[in-house]
Amino acid sequence: MSLATRYRPQNFEDLVGQLSAAQSLKNALDYRKIGHAYLFHGARGVGKTTMARILAKALNCVNGPTSQICNSCEHCVEISEGRSTDVIEIDAASNRGIDNIRELRAQAVFAPMKSRYKVYIIDEVHMLTTESFNALLKTLEEPPHHVVFILATTELHKIPETITSRCQVFTFKKFNAREIADRLAHILDLEKIAFEREALLPIAERGEGSLRDAISLLDQTLAFSGQNTLTLAAVRESLDILPVETYNNFVQGLRTGDLHAILNAIHELAQGGANLRVFLKDLLAYLRVMVLVSEKVEVHSLSKEDLEKIIRAAQAWDRNALIRVFQQLFRLNQEFGQMLSAKSSELRMALEISLVDLVHKLREPSVSALVQKIERLKTAIETGKPFEDTIASAPVQPEKRDTPAPQPQAATGDHQADTAAMLQKAFLAEEVPVNPETQKLFGG
Ligand SMILES: [Zn+2]
Repeated sequence: MSLATRYRPQNFEDLVGQLSAAQSLKNALDYRKIGHAYLFHGARGVGKTTMARILAKALNCVNGPTSQICNSCEHCVEISEGRSTDVIEIDAASNRGIDNIRELRAQAVFAPMKSRYKVYIIDEVHMLTTESFNALLKTLEEPPHHVVFILATTELHKIPETITSRCQVFTFKKFNAREIADRLAHILDLEKIAFEREALLPIAERGEGSLRDAISLLDQTLAFSGQNTLTLAAVRESLDILPVETYNNFVQGLRTGDLHAILNAIHELAQGGANLRVFLKDLLAYLRVMVLVSEKVEVHSLSKEDLEKIIRAAQAWDRNALIRVFQQLFRLNQEFGQMLSAKSSELRMALEISLVDLVHKLREPSVSALVQKIERLKTAIETGKPFEDTIASAPVQPEKRDTPAPQPQAATGDHQADTAAMLQKAFLAEEVPVNPETQKLFGG
């Protein structure tokens, strides 16, 4: 039995991370304020259908309706095993047509076979057609007293207002990486499997807020390593996760415009059989953290050592340039998403060319840097201060250069010549290419 199946929550208390929804439902059960329609909304893998099954048990448990599910009576067991005739699960993605809902309506009027309530769990409910929603609405307007609907969706905005207004809506939040890591640690403890704590964070990160996905990845990693201990090295190998240094070096190559190093890194990744889709995704996650730490935002999804390395790397970057890198690679990642049948050699080509383009773009001055420079020049001309003494309103950190900045020249007293010299220095300071004609104009 997979870990995900074995550790599927069976009680309201097990649904870590969804405590507020669980508490509201428990209160409703204990005060016998049972609604006829519930709508659970949230990202995939956050426990919507699990909560729906727990609620179904709470309604039909021999002790019920109760918030204290026994999990051992006939009703509870049948629901847990997915074979209760009175708890009907429908996947709206594949049963979205009007006939499916007509059938449901025809059946709903009959009393439950042996339970207290007939519970319809409709997953991915946003997939229903407009006609189907209208048919469902008629039942929601006048539901048979023995029926409870539990609708679940990842896309609340696609559900007509007429439906949502007749449901009690519960929002399920995504789990953060720490919460997922804690849950994984709990499972490993119960399984008596030794583990390195830092091995859990990459799994949690890859789960992208879905506990179910994270548990499946944990399963996969344990099967891959075939051992009784979970190590960071095994997780990295199993999930194709590269050490932070790899991204550090790669991004450093982008900053210094070292195309040779960048293309060589891609070559090595491809030779080593790395999945370039995964690499690009992880590179984006790395860049995101770089942007966040440069804005002093706290990040919890990485170990302290890794975080310190990223903070140091971020300090060398101009924020605008960093954001440009992120945006271009983000677009490429979206394109990768559309190239589902692309061969790895095609992905490699697309990645390489995008990186070459990026390096060239990074060599051009950004618009914001130019605007700031013009502002400073204006101040210099208006106040007569040397350009170096003017301060940009939002300072752009200059990249560290190997060549020393040109030394300021003494003012000549000729206002026009001084301005020209100032302009030239200002441009040279940021290494904007000055063509010979402009140089002549500036008296250089
Ligand atoms: Zn029970």
